[in-house]
Amino acid sequence: MEKEKSQAKQLKEKLFMNKKNGIVKAGAEEVAKADEFCRGYKTFLDNAKTERDAVKFVIEMAEKNGFTEYDCTKTYSAGDKVYVNNRGMAIMLAVIGKNGTKNGVRLGIAHIDSPRLDLKPNPLYESNDLALFKTHYYGGIKKYQWTTVPLALHGVVALKDGNVIDVNIGEDENDTCFVVTDLLPHLAVEQMSQVMTKAFNGEHLNVLVGSRPFNEDEESESVKLNVLNILFEKYGIIEEDFLSADLTMVPAMKARDIGFDRSMIGGYGHDDKVCAYPALMAVLDVKEPESTVITVLTDREEIGSDGNTGMKSTYMADFVADLAKADGMELRHVMRKTTCLSADVNAAFDPTYASAFEGNNACYINKGAVITKYTGSGGKYSTSDASAEYMAQIRNLLDSKKVLWQTGELGKVDGGGGGTIAKFIANLNADVVDLGVPVLSMHAPFEVVSKLDVYETYRALYEFYSC
Ligand code: MN
Ligand code: MN
Repeated sequence: MEKEKSQAKQLKEKLFMNKKNGIVKAGAEEVAKADEFCRGYKTFLDNAKTERDAVKFVIEMAEKNGFTEYDCTKTYSAGDKVYVNNRGMAIMLAVIGKNGTKNGVRLGIAHIDSPRLDLKPNPLYESNDLALFKTHYYGGIKKYQWTTVPLALHGVVALKDGNVIDVNIGEDENDTCFVVTDLLPHLAVEQMSQVMTKAFNGEHLNVLVGSRPFNEDEESESVKLNVLNILFEKYGIIEEDFLSADLTMVPAMKARDIGFDRSMIGGYGHDDKVCAYPALMAVLDVKEPESTVITVLTDREEIGSDGNTGMKSTYMADFVADLAKADGMELRHVMRKTTCLSADVNAAFDPTYASAFEGNNACYINKGAVITKYTGSGGKYSTSDASAEYMAQIRNLLDSKKVLWQTGELGKVDGGGGGTIAKFIANLNADVVDLGVPVLSMHAPFEVVSKLDVYETYRALYEFYSC
C-alpha cells in the first residue's frame, strides 16, 4: 500500500513551483515530436544564414502552403493566406481570421538577421602578397570567436544597370571558403597580456581571400588582381561594384546534433532563426484563426532595429493599417486590442559561467519555451516590461494547452543586458512579451539550443495563433 504523503510534502506539491526536469515533464512522445520538428529546423538553419537567404526560403515554403503575395487593392476573406516581402530582407505572413482585425491581430515576431562580418564598401586589398577583405562586424560579437573558423561569403552585388548578382561561396564542402587568421600562441605573449577588447579589435577581423599572383606577374598588387579576375570571370563584377553590395561573411558550418543523446543542436544563427522557424511553422499550420494572425520575420534587430527593414520602420504597422482599412477599422483601434509574442531567444544558464546568472530567474536548457517579462539593463532601462495581466493571459494559455515553458531574466542584475523588438511593438500600443528559446554561447559562430525547447516554442506560437 502506498505510504501516505506527509503534510509538508502535500503542501509543497500544492504551493511550490514544479521544478521537475523538462524532459521528464514533457514525456517520451513529446520529445520524439521535438526531434522530428527539429529535422526541418536544421534544414532551415542551413539555408537561412542571412536575412536575404531566409526570406527566399520562407517565400518558397509559403507559396507551397498556399500563400500569395498581398495586393492592397484586393479584398480578402477569412482563411486567405498572404505574404508581404519587404525588400527581400524582411517578410510578413498573414492568415486572415474570421473576425479579421476587429478584435486586434495576433502577432508573432522573430528576427532573421544574426551577428556576422559584413564586408566594408572597399573591402579588397593586398598586403605582403596576401589578398584580404576588410570587414565591419554586424551585431554584438566577441571578436576572438570569429578568428580561425571557416567562413562563407553570402550576399548580393547590385550593378548600375539594375542587375543584382547573388553570391554564395563556401557552403558546399567542395567549395572554397575563407578565414580570419590569428596569431600563434608562441608569439602571442604581448597579445595574451592585453585586455580582450584590445587584443582583438574590429580592424583585426580581416578575411584571407587569396595568395596567388595573376599569371606569375611582377606587377604590383597582382594577388589582388588575380582575385578580381576570378570574381570578374565568375560574376562579371569589377572592384567598383563592391560599392553597391551587401556582402557578408558567415560561419561555413552546418547545423549538427550535440551530445551523445542528440538532445541539442549546434549551429550558426540560432539567434533568432530558432524562433523564426517556429513562428513560420505556426502561421503555416494554423487553421481558421478567430483573429488575423501575422508572423513577422524582421531584419536589423541585431543592430538596434533601425532601417526600413527593421522594427522601428513603419512597414508592419502599414500592413496592419491596410488590413484594418479593409475591415472599416482604424489602425489605432486595432493596435490597442492587438497581442504579440516577440519571439526571441534568452541566455540559457551555463554552469561553467554560473556567476553571470541569478539561478532562480535564469532560463535553462530543456525547460521549454522561455518567457522574458523584461529585458533591458541598468534598472529596467530600454525595455517594455510586460504587464501582470498580459503575463497571466499567456500563462493561462500555455498551461491550458500543456506547453512546456519557463521564465527567464537575461543574466544577473547589472551584469550587462540587451533588448529585443518587444519595446517597439509596445510603443504601437499593443500587449507584448518575449517568448523564445534558451541559447548557450549566444552570438558565437556556433550556438547551442535544445530540441525540446525549439518544439515547445513552436507549440506556444501555434496555440497563441489558434486561441
Ligand atoms: Mn535575438
Ligand atoms: Mn541577438
